[in-house]
Formats: sequence, structure tokens, C-alpha cells
Amino acid sequence: MDKLIITVAPTGNVPTKALNPNAPITNEEIVKDVLACEALGASIAHLHIRDENEQPTSDRLIYKDLLDKLKKSGTNIITQLSTGARGGKNTIDYRSQMLDLNCEMASLSTGSSNFPTSINGNSPELIEALASKMLQNNIKPEIEVFDTAMIKNANYLVKKGIIKPNLHFNLVMNVPGSMAGTPRNLMFLVESLPQNSTFTVSGIGKSQIQMLTMAILLGGHVRTGLEDVLKMDQDHASNTELVKQVIEIARAVKRPIANPDQAREILSL
Ligand code: MG
Repeated sequence: MDKLIITVAPTGNVPTKALNPNAPITNEEIVKDVLACEALGASIAHLHIRDENEQPTSDRLIYKDLLDKLKKSGTNIITQLSTGARGGKNTIDYRSQMLDLNCEMASLSTGSSNFPTSINGNSPELIEALASKMLQNNIKPEIEVFDTAMIKNANYLVKKGIIKPNLHFNLVMNVPGSMAGTPRNLMFLVESLPQNSTFTVSGIGKSQIQMLTMAILLGGHVRTGLEDVLKMDQDHASNTELVKQVIEIARAVKRPIANPDQAREILSL
């Protein structure tokens, strides 16, 4: 079994300072959390950015500033930029604007579903455009699976030559409006993945510990962070506490943790 790759998703689109004062919003705050989580054992940073009003955006210049600040910090963490549907306008140009930047990975949803209060809208045309730009710029997609058809759609993109194996998936469990985070659902997705692919599991909200524990036992990888979980018990969660929680589970079941270079090897970056 490969060493465990821990992804931290520190910011997402939903958290605000009002919802959780630990949420990193500015690029400076994001860098600080990424470094602290890397020191604990995270090897991928799944990054979202905000504008000056705390609103989600896909602004290329803000992403560039974040990547520049991370580079300057001396981090070795793998950078993964979000191209998600909640980062502002839902057009190809808008959602692909950051894909010429110097990052190693980017998220790619290969289908549509619902978020709690909006549509996770990813048309076939948009998916192919994002995937093509990633291929052109040597960015490895993390295929975000919110529902089962997204695995089938990824296989179709492989056939068309727009994404190249080996594929890496993130199985996003328990988003309100989408697939429930149950062991049976997760098992079905894992068994549906194409051969030689790798996978990470996100467990939103209360599904987090159960889904991530299962991923660790199955040889998959895990994502945690305030994008996925805002509370631990009754308290505000923090990115570092969430990463520590995952490390405790991994230790308990004797799964060693990958560093960023080992993660690069596992993911063939
Ligand atoms: Mg995201």
C-alpha cells in the first residue's frame, strides 16, 4: 500500500471569518496555514482564493500572488488550484484563467451536480476546455467526483485523449445536494475507478471521520481542511487540528504518511 497523501483544503468557497474565525481568507493567511499543515504532514494544498470582500473568485492575479507567496515561503507542498463552479462567473474563460500559472495540479469536475444552494454546473464543453488547457500546460487534473457519472465521463475523456492516465480522483462524499457519504457509496465508487488510478476521499461535514478512515484502510488518500469541515465537536475547527486528526487515525491503523516528493512519485507528477 502506498504511503498516505494528505491534502489540505484550507479555504474553499463557503467558510468566512463569521462562520469560523480560523478560516484563512487572505493570501497571507492561506500561506501561513499551508506551511503549518505541511509541517504536520500535508503534501498537497488544494487552493481557493477570495477577493477583498471575502468573496470566492478565480482571479488569475490573486492566484498568481498566492503561488508567488508560497514559492517565496520555501514550501515544497504540491499546489493544486481550484477551477470549481463557485469561484465566480461560470464561463470557460473565467474558470480557466489560472491554468497557465505555475502549479502542479488543478481540480476538474467531470460532470454536474448540486451544491446546497447552487448548481455545480460543468457542461461537456467547459470540462473539455479545462482539461485541454491542463494537458497543454502539464497540469495534472484531480478529477472531482460528486456523483457516479463523473467517473464514466472521465473514462470518455481518456478515450478522446484529453486526459492522460494514470488518473487521480477525489471522491467527494456527502455534499448536501449530492451523493450521501455512506460506506456503501464510497465502496461502489472505489470499485468503479479505472485500473491504475489513485484516489483521495473528501468527507464533508459529519461524514469526515468515517469516510477518511475508510479511505485510509482502502489504500486511498485523504483530504481535510476547513473547505470540508467547519466544526470539530462543538468547537470551531482549524486546518491544523483537522490535519492532526487525520494523522492520529493513520497512526492508529499504521499507515505511514507521504512527504511531498513521495506524493509526487505516487501521483506521477
Ligand atoms: Mg475545492
